[in-house]
Amino acid sequence: MKLYNTATRQLEEFVPQDPNAVKIYTCGPTVYSYAHIGNLASYVYWDLLIRTMQLNGWKVDRVLNLTDVGHLVSDADDGEDKMEKGARREGVTVWDIAQKYIDAYLADFRSLGLLEPKKICRATDYIEQDTKLVDALDKAGFLYDTTDGLYFDTSKFPKYAEFAKLDLENLKAGARVEFSDEKRNPSDFAVWKWVRAGEDHAMKWEYRGRMGYPGWHLECSTIIHEELGEPIDIHTGGIDHIPIHHTNEIAQTEAGYGKKLANVWMHCNFITSEGQKISKSLGNCYYLRDLIDRGYSPVDFRAWMYQGHYQAERDFNFEQLAAAHARLMNYRNFAALRWQGVEQSDFEEEQKQILEFLNTNLNSAGAFAVLDSLAKSGKAPSEKFLKFIDDAFGFEIAASTPDISNDLKQKIAERVTAKQEKNYARADELRDEILAQSIELLDGADGVRWQYK
Ligand code: AMP
Ligand code: ZN
Repeated sequence: MKLYNTATRQLEEFVPQDPNAVKIYTCGPTVYSYAHIGNLASYVYWDLLIRTMQLNGWKVDRVLNLTDVGHLVSDADDGEDKMEKGARREGVTVWDIAQKYIDAYLADFRSLGLLEPKKICRATDYIEQDTKLVDALDKAGFLYDTTDGLYFDTSKFPKYAEFAKLDLENLKAGARVEFSDEKRNPSDFAVWKWVRAGEDHAMKWEYRGRMGYPGWHLECSTIIHEELGEPIDIHTGGIDHIPIHHTNEIAQTEAGYGKKLANVWMHCNFITSEGQKISKSLGNCYYLRDLIDRGYSPVDFRAWMYQGHYQAERDFNFEQLAAAHARLMNYRNFAALRWQGVEQSDFEEEQKQILEFLNTNLNSAGAFAVLDSLAKSGKAPSEKFLKFIDDAFGFEIAASTPDISNDLKQKIAERVTAKQEKNYARADELRDEILAQSIELLDGADGVRWQYK
């Protein structure tokens, strides 16, 4: 399998450390509001990664975190705390906010048919481990205390700029104007924040005799250490994580645990919606629910995602979603041929080609091109081939293309007779009755076929 590694900026042959347990970590959502389709996109892409690995025969150990503490609006160390903001908006506690949006996120996760990770971890369950990492970083001389919190001195970690190819000099020049707090370098970040006198912060824990809470980046270093062990094989996230969040995870893990964090880093691009950045005020911020309300299924959304590539910026719109839906209908009608006496095939050669496309940095669009031409071939897929397709893409085509009822079959036979008897009125009546059950009849040279409508 070849994957693009952000750390080396190259397409590389992926070699798991242990093929029996490929260790993958995904940065999960901050659970302070509903996840829109842009937020969900990354998990749909990574699902294809996991599925492809399983088709290659690898066992995948995957951990996903839920950020329920410490993530500030800016991704860095200023702005409001996202959880506190959500609590204020809804007039409930931060803990209620976390539970509500964890439930909503997991409901979307399941309705999209995404494979369950080995473990889903809440950041607030790792506070003690967080403080141990802070202790280790402090002991190694990487931290300094400020009124705002314990900060990581990035100038003490020489490789800091490497991962994101950051221009620290420019960062410094740009930040000089507003750079008047106690931070030593603009790129320094809080590993632990103090709750200041008079500050109303509901999520807080005692550490060193004071109340405080972890900086956002800390949880990922800690959870990976506890649940998977470094180095993991693959770390995934959105491209916006590269310059701050992942750069800081790397610094913390290497400085605090003395280990490399991840061998391969994969980042997915953003999606725009109807030509613009997703934004509530533009009215183009869609949730999975909105798609369902317009008659589409979560699987249609998966198909739309896989029509493109995770590294490309994509534009979501309903015409494209309709195209994805139509493509899935084609696949379902291809699958339906297996009930109609058409010769079935395992399509072994094509199966190899499809896997080869997926193994080439998740080229699902290439894989679809192979499937499209099979769907036009006039041959029927075997159950074995359908299982392969469903395992790869999570489309559940096999389950969603059952044989039609005996009653419908009877009606189709009756219609054939009616036509032979030139009773066209009766034939049309039967065709409409069948259509009312979402089955369309196609009259061809070699007889009548049915398909899902
Ligand atoms: P937010 O709730 O806006 O902080 O988003 C959480 C995460 O979702 C971000 O860190 C991104 O990785 C991802 N994300 C947000 N918007 C988009 C988008 N339009 N397309 C893809 N990913 C997005
Ligand atoms: Zn993370």
